[in-house]
Amino acid sequence: MRLANKFAVITGAGSGMGRAGALLFAQEGAHVVVADLDQKAAEATAELVRGKGGEAVAVAADVSTLSGNELIVRTALETFGALDVFWANAGVAAPMSPVAEQSIDFFDTLMGVNAKGPWLGARAAMPALRERPVSSFIITSSLSGFRARPNNSAYSASKGAAIQLTRALSVEFAPEVRVNSVAPVSTETPMLRTFMAKQDDIEGTIAGQRAGVPLGRLALPEDIAKAALFLASDDAEFITGVTLPVDGGISARS
Ligand code: ADP
Repeated sequence: MRLANKFAVITGAGSGMGRAGALLFAQEGAHVVVADLDQKAAEATAELVRGKGGEAVAVAADVSTLSGNELIVRTALETFGALDVFWANAGVAAPMSPVAEQSIDFFDTLMGVNAKGPWLGARAAMPALRERPVSSFIITSSLSGFRARPNNSAYSASKGAAIQLTRALSVEFAPEVRVNSVAPVSTETPMLRTFMAKQDDIEGTIAGQRAGVPLGRLALPEDIAKAALFLASDDAEFITGVTLPVDGGISARS
């Protein structure tokens, strides 16, 4: 039980890696606040956790706003009385396309959820996290935050910001709160199809991506959840300010 009696928030936990994280964190003993923009999805995840004997509460909130993040933290404190782990995981993707074809408004949405979201999460959660003897703040970034492929500029920029935010928060909140990030390669979640929405051959493009990963597959939501669990746990007690690629070796490849 690597999170026994810990109180954790996971945002974007209605789907994909956040949902996998809620199940895994609860299995490891955590009490979990399942936060998502989509209330039904959040409740479905909380129900899945409870179905496996875990404790979870759902909250609908928009992480691109301060009030959304404050609601999430308030829910944790009112339900559990304390907060040990905040995983700022909610994210959005844009269909891959050239700069000239990307929606200008959507650039702001990507930055608002993927970069400003964790910053607002820190603003809301750090006072509570600092009260605990050992606490952890985790951000979901992306391999796209430090490597680039064509037609993914706005998303890459938002995730690059998330990686530098990780470093900045880690030095600001040391030694009380460790701040780290997980950087997934393309992951088998609904978001993968969002990226591919404008490709002619979606399945062929995804197959090509899989073939380019040294370990021979894309990430599964559980791979990312396990990395976040490590960073949240005391096993990572001397680790702060890092971004951990969970990428099957792709960032090592020349
Ligand atoms: P992945 O797990 O790969 O990040 P998903 O699309 O499966 O991708 O999950 C992302 C989750 O983040 C979704 O459940 C979505 O509703 C949630 N989400 C997106 N935007 C926000 C937001 N502004 N506030 C809270 N949750 C959000």
